[in-house]
Amino acid sequence: MKKNIFKKLLLSMTGAITGCMLFGTTAFGAVVVLDPGHGGAGTAGAGAIYAPFMEKVLTLDVANKVKSELEAAGVTVKMTRSSDVEMSLPNRAIFAKSAGADLFISLHFNASGPHDKTGTEVWTSSFGQFFTTGYHLGKSILTELSALGLQSKGVKTKLGSQGDYYGVIRYGTGLGMPSIIVEHCFLDHPYDRSILSSKGTAAFAHADATGILNYLKSTGASLGGGAAAAETHAETPAAETPAETPEAETPAETPAAETPATETPAAETPATEAPAAETSDTKAAEPSAGAGVSKTKYGCPVDAAGNVTYTDAGGTSITFTAADWQWLLSNWAYTGDAEYQLHTLPAADLKTLLDNHKSGKI
Ligand SMILES: [Zn+2]
Repeated sequence: MKKNIFKKLLLSMTGAITGCMLFGTTAFGAVVVLDPGHGGAGTAGAGAIYAPFMEKVLTLDVANKVKSELEAAGVTVKMTRSSDVEMSLPNRAIFAKSAGADLFISLHFNASGPHDKTGTEVWTSSFGQFFTTGYHLGKSILTELSALGLQSKGVKTKLGSQGDYYGVIRYGTGLGMPSIIVEHCFLDHPYDRSILSSKGTAAFAHADATGILNYLKSTGASLGGGAAAAETHAETPAAETPAETPEAETPAETPAAETPATETPAAETPATEAPAAETSDTKAAEPSAGAGVSKTKYGCPVDAAGNVTYTDAGGTSITFTAADWQWLLSNWAYTGDAEYQLHTLPAADLKTLLDNHKSGKI
């Protein structure tokens, strides 16, 4: 079962890599990655459940409809999941990065312990341009959602011990992507439920898509190449202090469930293999002659001290210490073939991950 899920993930990631090559051919030149929250078997994957509503079903339903609208407007859209599968927060962010996301948007529905909360809200990063972009994007979406009759509770930030409190935001910004969580409404409150029942998911999706499109239009014709993260706005909004904690969200998920088999550097050493000078093959970063005494599974040279030299698809190489490489394998790609998943990322991004980890941001 899990292997099938992983195969699907690999296929989708491969598709994303291919899609990335088509980058910039759409009307806006922007890539939006939608993340339908939750997913997978049992109540653990369901998110909030208040009959007849189940969060994982609603998020996928809305995401599919947002995707259709955005694509019709010429925006490239990828989804972290397109079926009812479990997916970790780090892997959602890794997928978004591999898809070249300019905006990483996680879709959710809310619930509260006392069942007395109402309204629509957006969460974003507390930091720098990630905050600025998330604020303006979130505000644009909330304008549309509140027009459905929902109370807008604003764009919020929340810090935890590792930086941004919510994992999907922390991991997304750790990879350099403006990242937000849209909490559409409260599934456990009669008023919000009446809005959802009467308007339907199509209206919610139309609100999301309109908000996203209006934001993209406000930033100009092109967001290609991650420009969304670097863009500047004349107005710097004040951070809004979050008034509450959404009960449905799980903070700071620890990706420890499945530890991959650690690649033993000495396991595969095709000493007679003729090294190619350069390759764009993401699976095989060939070492220069004499560069390493052994190689990892996907061909990264490992020297006598255990340092691993990683070369990405663009030909950029970075040497990681054995400890740093192990951290990347165990913390950022723990489901299935960890090293394969790392190979979907640029070398510079792996270094950014490590830098953020060492500075306590993730
Ligand atoms: Zn949720």
